[in-house]
Amino acid sequence: MKTPLRMCVVCRQQFPKSELIRLVKQDGKIIIDKNNKIQCRGVWICKSSDCISKLKKSKSLNRAFKCEIPNEVYEQIGDYLQNGNINH
Ligand SMILES: [Zn+2]
Repeated sequence: MKTPLRMCVVCRQQFPKSELIRLVKQDGKIIIDKNNKIQCRGVWICKSSDCISKLKKSKSLNRAFKCEIPNEVYEQIGDYLQNGNINH
């Protein structure tokens, strides 16, 4: 069976789901969908340090979600990608 691939929104390369994290917009807030269970449009990001820093610099999520994402959200996502934890 082929592993389903998802595209990283920053580097535009495809990876197996397990190597990416999924972000969704719910009630106007961007949240990290840790269990891939939230049923709405999601954006995928890979865990490379390149993409983490580019994500913040290029504000890729503003485009992906078509809204203004506050800096602290980018910080949170960066922390999560780097350390694997988040305080909601
Ligand atoms: Zn990437």
